[in-house]
Amino acid sequence: MFSKILIANRSEIGVRIIKTCRRLGVKTAIVYSEADADSLAVEMADEAVFIGPPPASESYLVMDKIIDAVRQTGSEAVHPGFGFLSENPVFAKRLADEKIAFIGPNVHAIEAMGDKITSKEFAAKAGVSTVPGHMGLIEETEEAVKISDGIGYPVMIKASAGGGGKGIRVAYSAEEVLEGFPAVRAEAKNAFGDDRVFIEKFIESPRHIEIQVLGDKHGNAIHLFERECSIQRRNQKVIEEAPSPLLDEDTRQKMGAQAVALSKAVNYDSAGTVEFVASGADKSFYFLEMNTRLQVEHPVTEMITGVDLVEQMLRVASGEELAIKQEDLSINGWAVESRVYAEDPYRNFLPSIGRLKRFQPPSEGKIDGAPGTVRMDSGVREGDEISMFYDPMIAKLVTHGETRDAAIDTQQAALDRYLIDGIQDNIPFVATVYDQARFRSGNITTAYIKDEFPDGFAGVEPDEDQTLILAASAAYVHGTFSHRAAQISGRMSPVPAPREDWIVILGKEHFPIKLRFASGRTEIDLNGSTHTLETDWVPGEHLFEGKIDGNPFAVKFSDRTEGYLFRHRGVAIRALVCTPQSAALHAKLPEKEQADLSKLIMSPMPGLVVSVDVEVGQEVKSGSAVCVVEAMKMQNIIRAEADGVVKAVNVGAGDSVAADEIMVEFE
Ligand code: ADP
Ligand code: ADP
Ligand code: MG
Repeated sequence: MFSKILIANRSEIGVRIIKTCRRLGVKTAIVYSEADADSLAVEMADEAVFIGPPPASESYLVMDKIIDAVRQTGSEAVHPGFGFLSENPVFAKRLADEKIAFIGPNVHAIEAMGDKITSKEFAAKAGVSTVPGHMGLIEETEEAVKISDGIGYPVMIKASAGGGGKGIRVAYSAEEVLEGFPAVRAEAKNAFGDDRVFIEKFIESPRHIEIQVLGDKHGNAIHLFERECSIQRRNQKVIEEAPSPLLDEDTRQKMGAQAVALSKAVNYDSAGTVEFVASGADKSFYFLEMNTRLQVEHPVTEMITGVDLVEQMLRVASGEELAIKQEDLSINGWAVESRVYAEDPYRNFLPSIGRLKRFQPPSEGKIDGAPGTVRMDSGVREGDEISMFYDPMIAKLVTHGETRDAAIDTQQAALDRYLIDGIQDNIPFVATVYDQARFRSGNITTAYIKDEFPDGFAGVEPDEDQTLILAASAAYVHGTFSHRAAQISGRMSPVPAPREDWIVILGKEHFPIKLRFASGRTEIDLNGSTHTLETDWVPGEHLFEGKIDGNPFAVKFSDRTEGYLFRHRGVAIRALVCTPQSAALHAKLPEKEQADLSKLIMSPMPGLVVSVDVEVGQEVKSGSAVCVVEAMKMQNIIRAEADGVVKAVNVGAGDSVAADEIMVEFE
């Protein structure tokens, strides 16, 4: 085994690798850019090497800097994590030339699988079922149309070098190919510097199911069953689980056998993933691509098999023979993972950047009222800055239970207790998905999010149970604060008993509520019935946890200039708690006027202006693109919210902008 390795990555996956190394007694060194100097991964590693400015192209992607860091720290091997240099054959080759071990597969395997066209040809030869389509490059748009007509619509146009959901388009007709083919080429050229494109059949009701494989340098290869990752937004995974609700034992065996056959065909000698698209209708499945690295969602496999994949990667990279045999493996229970993204689900999932004022993830292991266990994989701490330079994924939340329902129930309970403030996060969105009966039934496809949220995510209205939870929590919190204020001021002596009568205004609705406080157990009258609330909450905590009528719950709240913002599942609602007198007054107040921002186009986050698509004097229609701002590797198209004529353009391509900076003004 190695005595010291270098981690050529950052954040969550850096921390993940360090945890295993510590357990194995392997020392770690990690590289970091200026933006990550104070990061958790850097704090946890035994050593850290500074490699330059925040943009990845000037730090994490510069091979010379990584190799210098290996030399400087005396590391014997490099773990590339995912993203960055993890699937770069040139990097793997350079390490090999320098006699530094690469904790990943051999160069030949990366090359053979690195590109979607060659890997598809390779897979077909190895007896793996591939998506029907054209096995080769397509140069001209006319040719693309002819090929698509031949395959039959719908078809998928794909960049051979594509990844991370970029460089992919579905076309339902020849017209859409005419438009989509050049678009994919341009996007591929832009994102990957490689405009080779191919076309295959679009599998309807597609489900993304992938097989985890593990190989060594002695010709052994095994699979660790499947993961289903059909819950995707713009081809990017959001929720993953293992096993898949679709597969029966027979299909599982067939898929696993094909994945192992492909791994053996490329002498695969590390952890890798063979991705398939499966048809929800008949369970037929087709090879998509092989990812020659550790996968973001690898923890769900670890939870159901008990195998530490990072440990296995280290062992096989150091030359050990695989100690696990196929027949040693079995599926234990069910695991579900949510990717926690720094993005604002209520504003079209725009990247969200800023300081983590509060970051209190749920505790690992058992939590109150949930049947399963929780695993937290995170790369951040309270107080950290989420910058515009990298991927928006800040953590992963994994839960395990005996059944799928138990894993999901535990996921819900853990998300309810996952407190993030200072930036926006996608927790309300994923919590809403878990609440949906269709998700629970396992009837999912990669179009799930598009089907269920056709107009985006606008939050959820509280149902009856949630109204009770929210009103009771708000009244309890505010009642406690106001009683404490009376005690502390000491002006009234003796201190009066806590007030019992309150009006909770949730959004616009008024709810008269009565609280009879008693230590640990409070009686609540709401809407004509009486409930009991038990809680250990103390002022200062922004997570309000307890039981109502014996049922555990947790809500999150933060202070607003007026009242509180309460959050539960997909609900985010303003709560104002008043005495009956002031509630009556409040009802008479005119609604505060919102400032008119409709004539301004402001940057929704700090970022880099990629293009401005309008000029002064131009008439712009509602919904048309005004400019493009890039942050967190995403290009965000900023659109006009109403028709208008451009009065001023304050920024140009290449400018950096702050959040809320006014970029374009209308007459
Ligand atoms: P998975 O491991 O499930 O395939 P992703 O496809 O999201 O997950 O990719 C893993 C990580 O690598 C993510 O952080 C993603 O942003 C990044 N990534 C994947 N492919 C690329 C690419 N071609 N260019 C840049 N980043 C990529
Ligand atoms: P990436 O490198 O971006 O991960 P993939 O080829 O793995 O690209 O495809 C990304 C997603 O697009 C898959 O998870 C799958 O949901 C969908 N997809 C890809 N090819 C097809 C296809 N032929 N039919 C239906 N869906 C597909
Ligand atoms: Mg993929």
